[in-house]
Amino acid sequence: MVIIYIKINYLDEERRLKLVSEYRKSFNRKLISIFLFILITATSLIGISSYQITKKALAEKGKVVLKNSVVQALALIRSEYNKVQAGSISQAEAQETIKTFLAGPMKADGTRDLHGNIDLSEHGYFIIYDKKGFEVLHPTLEGQNVLDVTDLNDAEHYIVKEQIETALSGGGYTYYAWRLPHSNKIGKKISYVAYSPDWEWIVAATAYELDFVNEATEILYTIGLVTTILIFFTGYIGTKYIKSATKPVLDIASGMKNVTEGRYQSIPAGNYNDETKVLIDGYNTMIESLEKAERKITIKNDRLTYLAYNDELTLLPNRNGMKEYVDQRLSNGCNFGYLAQLDIMGLKLINLTLGYEQGDKVLGLLGKYLRQYKKDNNYPARTGSNEFSIWIEAVEQQRIYPLLKEIREKSQQYVIENGYNQMLDIYLALTMYDGQNKSFETLYEETTTAMRTAREKRDLSITLFEESMKERVENELAMRRHLDKAISEKEIIPYYQAQVDFTTEKVVGVEALARWISSELGFVPPNVFIPYINQLNLITEFTEYMIDKVLSNYQDLVMKYDSDLTISINISPLCFMEKDFTGKVERAINKHHIPPHKLILEITEDVFIADYKEINRIITKLRELFVKVSIDDFGTGYSSLNYLMNIQPDEIKIDKSFVGQILDDEKAFYMFDTLCNIAENFGYSIVAEGVENKKQLEKISTTSLKIIQGYLFSKPEPLITEMPAGKNSGSCS
Ligand code: C2E
Ligand code: CA
Ligand code: CA
Repeated sequence: MVIIYIKINYLDEERRLKLVSEYRKSFNRKLISIFLFILITATSLIGISSYQITKKALAEKGKVVLKNSVVQALALIRSEYNKVQAGSISQAEAQETIKTFLAGPMKADGTRDLHGNIDLSEHGYFIIYDKKGFEVLHPTLEGQNVLDVTDLNDAEHYIVKEQIETALSGGGYTYYAWRLPHSNKIGKKISYVAYSPDWEWIVAATAYELDFVNEATEILYTIGLVTTILIFFTGYIGTKYIKSATKPVLDIASGMKNVTEGRYQSIPAGNYNDETKVLIDGYNTMIESLEKAERKITIKNDRLTYLAYNDELTLLPNRNGMKEYVDQRLSNGCNFGYLAQLDIMGLKLINLTLGYEQGDKVLGLLGKYLRQYKKDNNYPARTGSNEFSIWIEAVEQQRIYPLLKEIREKSQQYVIENGYNQMLDIYLALTMYDGQNKSFETLYEETTTAMRTAREKRDLSITLFEESMKERVENELAMRRHLDKAISEKEIIPYYQAQVDFTTEKVVGVEALARWISSELGFVPPNVFIPYINQLNLITEFTEYMIDKVLSNYQDLVMKYDSDLTISINISPLCFMEKDFTGKVERAINKHHIPPHKLILEITEDVFIADYKEINRIITKLRELFVKVSIDDFGTGYSSLNYLMNIQPDEIKIDKSFVGQILDDEKAFYMFDTLCNIAENFGYSIVAEGVENKKQLEKISTTSLKIIQGYLFSKPEPLITEMPAGKNSGSCS
């Protein structure tokens, strides 16, 4: 049945239902037919064989009756004969007594009744011949000679002659065909003949086999009747039994049909106590697990549908969900709105340094905070890994900037209040929709373009999309395509900028600064291509390449500048926090045989988004290698002083933006001076970057700072040997 269902599973509904009921019928019909066939064959065989046995037994019994009757007749003849000999009666009287006794009295028409006092069954009668074949006694032929009478089926067979012979030779049975008395029907006859010597008579008791076996025929009829009743009765019971026996199988079959239609119904257990119970239990268990499996699939499907439009982490709609919503608003006649984007800076670093759990926590908190803006047709969503978007309708033009700033500030606060203790930097970008024929995709592309511009400029104000941004972004995209090739084909090379002790005018160190002179794009500045290197996950490869390249230049640099020269290399925070970063540094030092205390690794403040413990662990490891760590761009972040208390760098580099202010801004200079004192007190080296003119130098010389790096002394320049073919040196500082 299972096979049948699997097959019909693919047929159309109507045909399948029809087939099911046909199979159902034919299955029962087959079983019942087999059952009835066996029943009828068995009872027929029993009936026919018992008929045969009975018939044979009755025929034997008949023959004995005939023989006994003849013996009785002979005894009667003897007794009457003796009476005649004794003279008590006449011979005629005696013979008439015998004939009357055996075949009844002579009637007026010269015939006798068939039956006398001895029972030879319905058509049987006595005959007496003399030895010449004259009938001494016969129901109808008395006095006639019948010696030549032949068998009615065999003209060669002389019945009477045979009987006379048999009798005279000691008696026995003879067989022939003869007409039934008072009828034209021919029947098989048996007779027993014996010789009575008294009056020299041949005495025959004859009967029709038919009479003897009549009872057997009755038995046959009875058996027939009983068989018929049996067939009907047992047939009825059997059919009912078969139906009840096949019921569970057929129930399972129809259950399976239900399953194919998505209905899971178990079968009542019933009172079965045999394999049927096992079958039903097994089926019900199967149905249960199928139902469970389907429930699971349904839940999973629902979940997948949910996930297709929503973000699990923040419980906000995702990009798809937002697209559906905004497109619907646009096609419903909305003719004014904004699409704003919030981009969390440094999320990657949080994931890498504090673990994804922390990153997820921050996103979750932001999501929770932004959910409250989902009202009045405004619609927040998480549209990228570190990016949220909000569709805003119900806000006037002059309110949009304050509103976005408020959203940013409040969400930053919310994250801090809820256990994440660093301030997040969040970029804001925006595009305006004023009823032109635009789709969500176009608007989204516009905000993304604005966001790219904001990120590239590290601009934390709100960046509104302008058409002119498109071209720049396209250029950047082209640049992205070339970057891969740039690293693999070594188009990027280090330039070196000297760090000078202005008190002695001696070059004490150089900072390696990457330069990309692309064969297709021309000169690309590092603050354009390095963010892309980070985004494209090429930073590890790039940093390893730069370290190797710079260290391989060490001997030439020493020759060019000074034997005591230190070499500074910029390390992206993502790389600094990477597993086995210190191992890589160690291997590079060993490879190029560099004195490790001449190597300084510059890391920017960005890295302090991570926890101090981890940074200190790496710094300690580097210190064990005698490699130094410098804090780059010092003074541009939020908490410079705070982290100076927590970590111990070897050097701090005051950012050029700071240096740029010391001439015009007394406060800035005061800060600069204070920083120098702090560094001195803590025992850190201090370098001022971006010193461009003598006035700046004069002012700096009033502080404790001695080492400066800037255009005043030199621009970043290549080692002559490292010039890329056909390119001009010094032109791209
Ligand atoms: P940075 O580490 O702050 O590097 C100093 C930047 O100031 C350099 O810009 C340098 O050319 C510039 N500069 C030096 N003196 C003066 C001056 O007197 N006036 C002015 N206006 N600028 C001066 P550059 O080479 O364009 O590099 C920009 C930034 O790119 C670097 O800032 C650094 O953060 C990053 N960078 C450069 N090379 C690498 C590198 O190999 N790896 C990594 N991770 N970052 C690098
Ligand atoms: Ca630097
Ligand atoms: Ca700087």
